[in-house]
Amino acid sequence: MKKVDIRYCTYCKIYTMKEICKICGRETIVKKPPRFSPQDRYGKYRRYLKKLEKGLV
Ligand SMILES: [Zn+2]
Repeated sequence: MKKVDIRYCTYCKIYTMKEICKICGRETIVKKPPRFSPQDRYGKYRRYLKKLEKGLV
C-alpha cells in the first residue's frame, strides 16, 4: 500500500494530497494528523459537553 502524505494549505486551510494547492497555488506543508482515534475524539466531545454544562462555552 502506497503511503500518501496528507498535506495542508495554511492559506486556504484545506487538506490536499498535492504539493501545490490547487486553489491558491501556494506550496502546501506536510501535515500528519494524529491517528484516527474515535476514543480521543469522543473524549474531546465529552470535555466539550462538560464545558457546555458549566456554561463555559
Ligand atoms: Zn491554498
